[in-house]
Amino acid sequence: EVMLALSGVAKSYNLGLPGEVQVLQGIDLSVNRGEVVALVAPSGAGKSTLLHIAGLLDGADAGTVGIAGHDMTDLPDAKRTAIRRQDIGFIYQFHHLLPEFSALENIVLPQLANGVARKAAVSRAQDLLERVGVGARATHRPAALSGGEQQRVAFCRALANEPRLLLADEPTGNLDPATSEQVFATLIDLVKATGLSALIATHNMELAARMDRQIRLESGKLVAL
Ligand code: ADP
Ligand code: ADP
Repeated sequence: EVMLALSGVAKSYNLGLPGEVQVLQGIDLSVNRGEVVALVAPSGAGKSTLLHIAGLLDGADAGTVGIAGHDMTDLPDAKRTAIRRQDIGFIYQFHHLLPEFSALENIVLPQLANGVARKAAVSRAQDLLERVGVGARATHRPAALSGGEQQRVAFCRALANEPRLLLADEPTGNLDPATSEQVFATLIDLVKATGLSALIATHNMELAARMDRQIRLESGKLVAL
């Protein structure tokens, strides 16, 4: 079963200057259920744009986006937003946790917004934190956590509502190499244990090699590795 399917996706930005910047051209890619795919790309290659289109945060100029067999291309905005909230988890280079709330609450809140009862939400949040090794930090605010711990909490938040597809943009890019290595291993273990499908962008070839498959984006086109 194909969880994410991009076909002929193209995107350009018109900067109000003569000519336009063609960021993505003819992108065809798919991620199967349970598959963890590395998106390897140098800076400026269009990786963030691609992930935003795959995650329904931005529209393509041409081509189609399919999630779990459904074509998302011409859906009304409200429907796209609902699918994004329910089926897609995002992780960024920076944690983007809410600073005024504890680690636990940062994972509880998205579940409450999704209609989960508080008791069940707290139980799931605590379980997720324990699985990534930060269970003892549940009551701490993000500022009291190390960079690696903050990212681990962000992983839990991304998985809070049991998405089907995980999209990650340099998820350990802010961490020093040793921490990055460990935190990345935790992420892969978590994804594999939950059977999630994932597209994870990194410019680190060693981290990419740990995934099921690697694809490379260069100047807006996918090229063979
Ligand atoms: P990456 O994540 O691979 O570094 P991006 O997808 O962020 O690349 O950007 C690819 C190219 O598109 C860059 O040249 C960038 O400057 C340009 N770009 C990205 N977003 C916008 C935007 N909103 N408006 C204009 N140009 C943009
Ligand atoms: P890292 O190995 O990621 O660089 P740090 O040296 O920042 O970690 O932190 C080491 C430990 O100290 C971590 O467990 C972290 O949660 C804890 N810690 C760091 N800053 C604070 C703080 N301001 N309040 C409470 N605990 C902290």
